[in-house]
Amino acid sequence: MAGAKPRILIIGGGFGGLFTALDVAGAGDVTLVTDEDHFLFTPMLYEYLSGEVEEWHIAPKYQELLDNRVNLIQGAVTGIDLSARVVTIENHPEAVNYDILVLAVGGVTNYAGVPGAEEYAIPFRKLAHADSLRKRMVATLDHVPPNLPPQDTRRALTFAVVGAGASGVELSTKMADLLRDAFERRALTGEPRVLVIEMGEKVVPGMGESIRTFVTNALSECRVEVHTLTRVVRLTQNTLTFEHNGTKAELETAAVVWTGGVRINPLVAQLSIEKTDRGLILVDPTLRLPSHENVFALGDVAFYKDATPTLAGTAQLALQQAGLAGRNIRAVISGEKLHTKHFEELGEAVSLGTERAAVLAGGKAFGGPLARQARFAMYTSRLPTWHHRLRVGASWFFEGTAPRPLLPLGLQ
Ligand SMILES: Cc1cc2nc3c(=O)[nH]c(=O)nc-3n(C[C@H](O)[C@H](O)[C@H](O)COP(=O)(O)OP(=O)(O)OC[C@H]3O[C@@H](n4cnc5c(N)ncnc54)[C@H](O)[C@@H]3O)c2cc1C
Repeated sequence: MAGAKPRILIIGGGFGGLFTALDVAGAGDVTLVTDEDHFLFTPMLYEYLSGEVEEWHIAPKYQELLDNRVNLIQGAVTGIDLSARVVTIENHPEAVNYDILVLAVGGVTNYAGVPGAEEYAIPFRKLAHADSLRKRMVATLDHVPPNLPPQDTRRALTFAVVGAGASGVELSTKMADLLRDAFERRALTGEPRVLVIEMGEKVVPGMGESIRTFVTNALSECRVEVHTLTRVVRLTQNTLTFEHNGTKAELETAAVVWTGGVRINPLVAQLSIEKTDRGLILVDPTLRLPSHENVFALGDVAFYKDATPTLAGTAQLALQQAGLAGRNIRAVISGEKLHTKHFEELGEAVSLGTERAAVLAGGKAFGGPLARQARFAMYTSRLPTWHHRLRVGASWFFEGTAPRPLLPLGLQ
């Protein structure tokens, strides 16, 4: 390929795709196709829900991040023909040809076939999901008069989060703190009810014991009810049916948020290539598809053997892989030998409500308000582009990161 200006097409503008595009900018005729107009720093979607961070901090527009060395097409890719080396994009008149393709479309919410889940639960993967959850919380609070008896208030303000992985824990503690603050401001009686429902036997199963202790303490301080070994079996608009120890029960809910898992992106499901049992794309140690030398896959769609197992399905992995993908794309272009890399855990950080977090760094876990500050600092350094990092860092430092209360609709 040496000498030509290869067409590099990257599908998906998340951690894997955007960071690859930034890395290979200028190395060829680079195009990023993605279905949103902004990148999303998902680890801080909880802070966006609580108003601790603003939209521009965690969801900068691609146009602000990319310069003229990367062409941007906003649209959903609907088809990929790997033999003809061409992709089709929704609402885009022409098919797009490529020489090198990068697949980085991430996953989608897995409702695990639970009846009513897709229809009634709120997913939590995008800005729009956080917006609709916040709206639902405000609307529910707005309907509760201060003189309502505590037991009725509690019933009206019951929110359930499905899944007690990091997402479910971060979300439920954030929601509990926000709701409790709203209770005080609105002088409501009693307290809100936030539940986490988990079919496994423990919370944050992917994390180590040291950080789990902080998580468990925070859940109890935030008064989040944790129901493990409990399976959600059905949802309706305002009820959730669960099963525990063979017994079923129904709960009235103001909202159910689904953080119960990720499944393979339908675009990847369409492709006849080598995959794992779970449908992940098998890549060789250089991130290339064994059957297609010009195609790379990374992030949540790919199965990469040489990575610490706890890294599977994380932004940390996608981000590190983008560096390798970029390096190898340049190697393909220049006809050099491709590289491999072992990916390590960079540390863990979970936000726990609006005032604290827990961080595991260098094998040591610590928690509380200091960990919250450390998490903000750590994440500033992982945002895309120096320019954006500096702007956001300055904003967090000078303007602060206090949550935005759930005020009544007319006062927002
Ligand atoms: C709420 C939340 C919190 C998280 N917190 C953490 C955390 O604290 N730490 C951590 O390490 N990981 C975290 N993760 C996981 C992390 O976000 C993912 O592992 C990571 O984003 C994977 O990167 P990716 O590039 O594979 O996919 P993504 O970042 O999901 O990017 C995929 C991109 O492809 C686009 N796309 C999808 N389909 C198409 C299509 N057909 N055509 C065009 N574009 C398409 C999407 O819009 C998106 O921009 C979190 C995830 C969520 C949802």
